[in-house]
Amino acid sequence: MDKLIISNLSKTYDNGVKALDNVSLEIPTGMFGLLGPNGAGKSTLMRTIATLQDADEGKIMLNDIDVMAQKIEVRKILGYLPQQFGLYPRISAIDLLDHFAILKGLTQRKQRKEIVTALLQKTNLYEVRKQKLGGFSGGMKQRFGIAQALLSNPKLVIVDEPTAGLDPKERNKFYDLLSEIGEHAIVILSTHIVDDVKELCTRMAIMNQGQVVLEGKPLLLINQIKNQVFQKIIDKKEIAGYRAAYNVINERHYLGEPIIQILSDSDPERGFIPSQVGLEEVYFTQLSK
Ligand code: ADP
Repeated sequence: MDKLIISNLSKTYDNGVKALDNVSLEIPTGMFGLLGPNGAGKSTLMRTIATLQDADEGKIMLNDIDVMAQKIEVRKILGYLPQQFGLYPRISAIDLLDHFAILKGLTQRKQRKEIVTALLQKTNLYEVRKQKLGGFSGGMKQRFGIAQALLSNPKLVIVDEPTAGLDPKERNKFYDLLSEIGEHAIVILSTHIVDDVKELCTRMAIMNQGQVVLEGKPLLLINQIKNQVFQKIIDKKEIAGYRAAYNVINERHYLGEPIIQILSDSDPERGFIPSQVGLEEVYFTQLSK
């Protein structure tokens, strides 16, 4: 079993933004969801783990490799799919993957061909392998990104905001692929989309303003607040009063009416009814703090 241990990681950018504030996490083999709003520090953490930038303080260990000190060792067993994955539009999928394979040091022609073919099949791109990447859909591009990330048979796979712009069908295909990889590797999925984590991840953390504000197994985290979330359809004019009186974690509309959800240890009465609790509610409790 592989393990990634992040200890007391902090990073302040030159402009004074503290993107990571004493972040500690233990991530075992399997799918790990890192959830947080834009600006939470997720990409900074992902890039640091992927050896693309350093933190000011703290340590990251991947098994017995010190990530920030032994970057070359890490890169040999790392697969990284960044938020923006640049592709050469006029090259075919198979040619570009072959090219990346050479860069990864797979110099033996026969072995390389076998690996490239297997990865194109695994990512469901074999049929379209001779097509130019410029004509690929968002989902196909992401799957190509995964194919290149898997070239080194990685122990650690990092995917940053992978489902943005994918339609539901493409997203499902992508989820299936990731879960398969998660059977044998540490997969960290960074996202602001609760559904991504809900469907895939056995462990998760929520980040906000550079800090890890909650961590655990999604189901346990849901159970912790199961009987503490209540909801009520209210009049728009009353919203400020409710905000002052309760811990309002979410405001949205339901069939055109404003509806609020609150977190409360005891029954708030006044027409509130118990709310169904899922990962969204867990997430909202953390963001509303
Ligand atoms: P997320 O991926 O969760 O959206 P980021 O790690 O991209 O979060 O950003 C965290 C914070 O750091 C944000 O406030 C962002 O504006 C800031 N930030 C990110 N990269 C840089 C940079 N290179 N220079 C200065 N500030 C940055």
